[in-house]
Amino acid sequence: MLTWADVLEFGKNGNPTIERKLMKSEDEWRESLTDEQYRVTRKHGTERAFSSDMCNRFEPGRYACVCCGTLLFDSAEKFDSGTGWPSFTQPVQENVVAYNTDTSHGMTRVETVCNVCDAHLGHVFPDGPEPSGLRYCINAVALQKEENSAASVTFGGGCFWCTEAIFQRIKGVTEVTSGYSGGDVQQPTYNQVCTGSTGHAEVIQVKYDPEVVSFGEIVRVHLGTHNPTTLNQQGADRGTQYRSVIFYQNEEEKSVAGKLIQEMEAVLGKPVVTEVAPLDTFYPAEQEHQNYYNRNNGKPYCFTVIDPKLAKFREHFPEMTEASPA
Ligand SMILES: [Zn+2]
Repeated sequence: MLTWADVLEFGKNGNPTIERKLMKSEDEWRESLTDEQYRVTRKHGTERAFSSDMCNRFEPGRYACVCCGTLLFDSAEKFDSGTGWPSFTQPVQENVVAYNTDTSHGMTRVETVCNVCDAHLGHVFPDGPEPSGLRYCINAVALQKEENSAASVTFGGGCFWCTEAIFQRIKGVTEVTSGYSGGDVQQPTYNQVCTGSTGHAEVIQVKYDPEVVSFGEIVRVHLGTHNPTTLNQQGADRGTQYRSVIFYQNEEEKSVAGKLIQEMEAVLGKPVVTEVAPLDTFYPAEQEHQNYYNRNNGKPYCFTVIDPKLAKFREHFPEMTEASPA
């Protein structure tokens, strides 16, 4: 992790080395950028404070240099500085940002530039939050939010052996991991979660390609393939670890989930008890619980409990079923 001492050292004795350098002529930059991007990144400009909603956005994702596409920052290190510019405590790697002493405007400051293409990004100050104590104050116009090619959603609907088997068979789903979320104990084990005392739910984390399947479609399958009206219970399984829950990562997901639950209540004619909660730490379950159905489909639990659920899924959501099940 970089600290203020490292930043001063780079500014004074030379910047970290990087594998790639990109040089373009002024004309080429002017052509590939908007006027405002060009003014800020190539002419050391500063955008108006609060001119971008990027300051207020903290959903998972990464930010790249708008000029050359080099990944610079991750939203995990983004914080609300109240300054009107996107603020970070660290770059994604120690060598992607370079530092120059800037004595313009009668101040001595440390300028930050992209280490690959020398784009002016902003400045860095020693008044950020712990542990780095750094505040990278960056022009939003110098950054490009990386589009999430693999989005994810985490939810619980009873035993994860069953939910995993269903979501492995949906078009556009690239990976399903069984695990635990929403409890108080760090790194819980299956046996701890089974007691119901850790507060965790058995959940699955589903990675998907948003170009093929949407968050809403996945939630719709979730609500349609377990019983969302029985509190802390799925069939014979009882306990808070089997609660029905959807973990959202932003306000939009929260609102979509709420709307689909209302729709479901109208269809079922009774209250849906599914909890909608902000995503908490996800702990992957032990290896023996991963890919359970595919590895054990001769076992009685699979053909008496999981097979009927899969049949129900294929019947209700034929358009979302993969042609040849994984
Ligand atoms: Zn760059």
